[in-house]
Amino acid sequence: MTIKINFSVDKNKLFYLAKVLNISKSRSVLLKDSKNNLDNVKKMWQRGHKPVLNYLLNKFSGSENYNIKIVIVPEYFFVGACEPIEKLVIYGQPPRCKNFSTAIIIHEITHILLSRITIKRCRIIDEAICFMAENIVYEKLEKKSIREIWKMNELDKFHREALKLSFKFSDYFFVDNSTDIKNIIRLLFENIRSDILKTVPQIGLFKNLHKNITFSKKYFNSRAYLYTKQ
Ligand SMILES: [Zn+2]
Repeated sequence: MTIKINFSVDKNKLFYLAKVLNISKSRSVLLKDSKNNLDNVKKMWQRGHKPVLNYLLNKFSGSENYNIKIVIVPEYFFVGACEPIEKLVIYGQPPRCKNFSTAIIIHEITHILLSRITIKRCRIIDEAICFMAENIVYEKLEKKSIREIWKMNELDKFHREALKLSFKFSDYFFVDNSTDIKNIIRLLFENIRSDILKTVPQIGLFKNLHKNITFSKKYFNSRAYLYTKQ
């Protein structure tokens, strides 16, 4: 399995996002800010993504080759989301710490990888696994813990429960190199209370995005963090 990552600014998605979120900036400013963010993200990404992606590839060990497109929007959109069918990630976030960008993008790429695995599970299991993958960046590259990054009271119930699961099961993801992703899914599925399994994400602004930017709702994974800093 190989992954190729291609970063770009997509004008259509950018202008649509600005419209949905009532951003009053001109198109030229939006474009300029996206391109600046693109340069920043590329720099951050180059510093540390390879060992993390290799680690993930090891866990997933499938035969598919991925060509993933990362569409960059300005930092003030604060969005990390993915569309697995299109192998697309949308990203725009202020760098909170050294490799913050890489962490969120790794989270979204993990959603894309997971979308190809057909073993029975619930959405919250995928979310927990994505937090575990995100945490690799914090632990291995930044010497931080995901507990320092996310505050429980910032999160909606779905992401909060998923984050808690990631704390509980991260040893299987980190320590045991031989445990592949299918076994981790099975382990989680057999050990989570059914009320937690049934927790689903809140659909807010992403519902509109889905309708209008051709995201498919079935696979759309919001981080519930689409908001603007104006
Ligand atoms: Zn997610």
